[in-house]
Amino acid sequence: MTQDQAPQAPTPPMGRPQLRQWELTVTAVADAPANMRRVTFTAPDIAEFSYRPGQAIVMMLPTADGEFGRRDYTIRSFDKDKGLLAVDFFMHGDANNLTPGPAFARDAKIGDKINVRGPRGGASFREEADWHLITGDECCLPAIFHILETMPAKAQMHVLIEVDNIDSEIALNDIREGLTATQITWLHRGELKAGPNDFMADAVGRFMLPHGRGHAILIGETSNVRKQRQNLISRGLTREQIASEGYWRPGRIGGHDHVED
Ligand SMILES: Cc1cc2nc3c(=O)[nH]c(=O)nc-3n(C[C@H](O)[C@H](O)[C@H](O)COP(=O)(O)OP(=O)(O)OC[C@H]3O[C@@H](n4cnc5c(N)ncnc54)[C@H](O)[C@@H]3O)c2cc1C
Repeated sequence: MTQDQAPQAPTPPMGRPQLRQWELTVTAVADAPANMRRVTFTAPDIAEFSYRPGQAIVMMLPTADGEFGRRDYTIRSFDKDKGLLAVDFFMHGDANNLTPGPAFARDAKIGDKINVRGPRGGASFREEADWHLITGDECCLPAIFHILETMPAKAQMHVLIEVDNIDSEIALNDIREGLTATQITWLHRGELKAGPNDFMADAVGRFMLPHGRGHAILIGETSNVRKQRQNLISRGLTREQIASEGYWRPGRIGGHDHVED
């Protein structure tokens, strides 16, 4: 065998750095607004954790067959002094037959341990932009709210959120007071099913682009995110001005979709 033919050790694919692993222990579990369940964790080395609001961790959660599956969840909050990291799980699906994410959130008990890797993801706030647009559905609320809580209060932020009805709305002041240049538009799907549709893409199409250089964070169901991205590109935004990622998709099991076309 020549040197060219010698077997080589596998290397991580480009753009996929090895993420640090953390063993998290559950410290609290509670219901949270908008049909969420909040699980709070700690870890002995958690003071070394650093991330950008909007980023996520990849959690190894128990699955129905007794194995573990990867699920991406946003860091909803992180209190370095107290050593506490919270995650909000959207309780989607059939309550009698929950998928691993919501099932974990329903059943988690203080002291439970899980392994996660991270942080990862690029759906975070860009300080240098003149204006900001962020769009998403229910499972994006943790990312959206955490960005609203941590960005400069005077940022010109436009938020489009897709939910089923008014019960899922949260007042801006309950998220954070003093967001004078933030505008949240709640879009009610009503009878329309969550999933691939034109609902958010139409809302993005109606959004009047403000003056100056903007930055858009588009997250949610993958095909919906793609449509929104293409709309903004057709109206002159460059690819660098858009961070977009598919958070879920009918039939997909865990993971995330890069939306870069
Ligand atoms: C970077 C990133 C951050 C995320 N942050 C959060 C977060 O903070 N909170 C949160 O709740 N979710 C978040 N998500 C979405 C979450 O990872 C997915 O919804 C994931 O599929 C949930 O796992 P599961 O075990 O419930 O369902 P899976 O076993 O992965 O999927 C089973 C089926 O359920 C359906 N499904 C999955 N997710 C949804 C959904 N949101 N709405 C409707 N149907 C769905 C699909 O048909 C899917 O095939 C994030 C995703 C990414 C990529």
